[in-house]
Amino acid sequence: MTTRHPLSATVLGYPRIGAKRELKRAVEAYWAGNIDDAGLAAASAEVRAQMLTDLSAQDLTSVPVNVFSHYDHVLDTTAAVGAIPERYRNVGGTLAQYFAAAHGNAELAPLELTKWFDTNYHYLVPELGPDTVFSAQPQKALQEYHEAVERGLQARPVLLGPISFLLLAKPEPGSPSDFHPLSRLEDLIACYRDLLAAFTEAGATWVQLDEPALCADRTEAELAAVATAYTALAHTEANIFVTGGYGSFDKALPLLLNSGIDALAIDAVAGASDIDWLEANEVPPQVTLVAGVVDGRNIWRTDTVRAAAIVDRIKAVATTVGVSSSCSLLHVPVDLEAETGLAPELAQRLAFARQKIREVSQLAQPDGERWSRGESNLAWRNDHIRQRLASLDASATQRDDFETRVKAQEAHTPLPPLATTSIGSFPQTTDIRRARAQHRNGLMIDVDYKSRLKKEIASVIELQERLDFDVLVHGEAERNDMVQYFAEHLAGFTTTEAGWVQSYGSRCVRPPILFGDVSRPSPITVDWSAYAQSLTTKPVKGMLTGPVTILAWSFVRDDQPLSDTAAQVALALRDEVADLEAAGLKVIQVDEPALREMLPLRQAEQDDYRRWATDAFRLATAVVKPETAIHTHLCYSEFGEVIDAINALDADVTSIEASRSKMEVLQDLHASQFARGVGPGVYDIHSPRVPTVEEIASALSKAIAVIDPKRLWVNPDCGLKTRRYKEVEPALASLVEAAKQVRAQL
Ligand code: GLN
Ligand code: ZN
Repeated sequence: MTTRHPLSATVLGYPRIGAKRELKRAVEAYWAGNIDDAGLAAASAEVRAQMLTDLSAQDLTSVPVNVFSHYDHVLDTTAAVGAIPERYRNVGGTLAQYFAAAHGNAELAPLELTKWFDTNYHYLVPELGPDTVFSAQPQKALQEYHEAVERGLQARPVLLGPISFLLLAKPEPGSPSDFHPLSRLEDLIACYRDLLAAFTEAGATWVQLDEPALCADRTEAELAAVATAYTALAHTEANIFVTGGYGSFDKALPLLLNSGIDALAIDAVAGASDIDWLEANEVPPQVTLVAGVVDGRNIWRTDTVRAAAIVDRIKAVATTVGVSSSCSLLHVPVDLEAETGLAPELAQRLAFARQKIREVSQLAQPDGERWSRGESNLAWRNDHIRQRLASLDASATQRDDFETRVKAQEAHTPLPPLATTSIGSFPQTTDIRRARAQHRNGLMIDVDYKSRLKKEIASVIELQERLDFDVLVHGEAERNDMVQYFAEHLAGFTTTEAGWVQSYGSRCVRPPILFGDVSRPSPITVDWSAYAQSLTTKPVKGMLTGPVTILAWSFVRDDQPLSDTAAQVALALRDEVADLEAAGLKVIQVDEPALREMLPLRQAEQDDYRRWATDAFRLATAVVKPETAIHTHLCYSEFGEVIDAINALDADVTSIEASRSKMEVLQDLHASQFARGVGPGVYDIHSPRVPTVEEIASALSKAIAVIDPKRLWVNPDCGLKTRRYKEVEPALASLVEAAKQVRAQL
């Protein structure tokens, strides 16, 4: 019997929140003081044990460890190099420090949370300065290593790689302005060497270093750092296995291959261009290549006939080849078997994390079972929609010019300068959530549920009239989630019962599955919006989620270009927009908070994305008359890279998050000569703090220095659904009062 190479069959990481979100519950109970350290430790150990059970079920030749996390794997690496910022150090033991950095406490704000590459996962940004002292803290990784070894598994500790760690970090507050975290590479490498030494000491032969940051365009200096780092790390006792997982390595590929590392994972799903490069170049014979052919980002069953052919291509260029997932399985739910409500013809085409392990294992066996996906299911095709899309011409995405629209809108819906509005949702009270749950479980009949929602809408309208808002919203009480709600009402989508995926910390989402051609069987939001409008003489804003965001927060079919799928979603929304207008809504907001998230990591792919994403938005919205105002909402303020796209959306008004970045966004708007209506959020809804009239008025005074008051809107920086009325009411009162004060001075 020949022993198999440890990387013959493996996955790069595994979901760690628990199939039923057990870790979420435990961590939240711990924060609330309902369980103690021992209780959390027991719950965490159980989640890890289940992870190992899953990972050992299908003869993988080695398993990743240190992939459990109490909150975030980037923070875990920050802790492993001893770089939890000073200000969290005196709150208690290591777990208390960890959670203070992750989640904050009464005195301390947490580390900044930001998007992980082009996913809906969020990581905690490390803060490094010129004097940050690194010190190896291998305890967590070693504990998980030993837990796996005790089960007889060949275990491989995983860390975020040093280059990605530094590239994801930001300078700590007070650092010299020319300080860059990458300048700390040498010291960090010394710390990684200590970590690796601790792992090899414990018996580990392989260590996995994830370098997702190398899947984006990198400067020459950054690429030089890759060579430096891995040449140094290759000279350790550990066998080094480097992964990317979010696309191609491109220019970093030859550097990694020639650095002396022992194995490299190729993302054969999102980074297939690396395989072309490998075929045209020399692969050093000592480097094992691991073919990441099982999609770690999506939930479609792997066409193992095709995947095996890709593995063969890699086998033709490398001496030793293994099979793996394309990236960590962090982004997919745990178990398809838990989904009892899916149509069988759909379920048989899906694979969640447990099923993906089996696929890897089968692909690594020369005589393993193979499955071919074949044609897409004809029952999921909608020729009517396809014909409608094909028959559209350029005018479908083109409105009159902005000046014409502004005049028409001013006549149709007169509004003061610094018009006040909100982003859409009002607090989702316990009572509303309970009613929704009862309705879903068949315990509340439709008519009762509808009248409960109407009562909620009436009270939200009444509140906004009392506060004297200019443009009102209906409050979105009917929506569980801004994407799932639409997925539940559109054909071509389905939703899952337990398909939870970690978004950040203890927060999980359940992305819907977009499996077929999309269409709108009947109006979705029109009744609610029309009802809200019937209660007031002030304009009510219709409220929809945009096509890009619907795709970004769903698992999307991968058998046709995203641009085609986006156009189908857009066409369905277009009908909804037209119906809202016909029902008397003069303002319609189409939210695109994920516009930035979907931006491809490589510049070469970005133009194409910007084109189809903005085409889709305009297809959804350009159906209205000039006098109907189209608003959009974006959830972030770093829009430098997407400002052209925001312009191309051609919305009349764009509201953006700005309060946390203290209106820095104004400079960007000014610099980019953004000429349309804009609502930079004047207060941070993510915090329970109630803003004062003075602080909002002062933000507005700054804003009118760079934005024409007629184009300036006054709004919070995001929806209010996670807040409570006792915070929202006084905050909104301050907002309206501040707008009035500044307006009076014009
Ligand atoms: N209209 C949505 C809301 O207010 C927007 C949410 C978002 O930006 N993520 O809830
Ligand atoms: Zn938002």
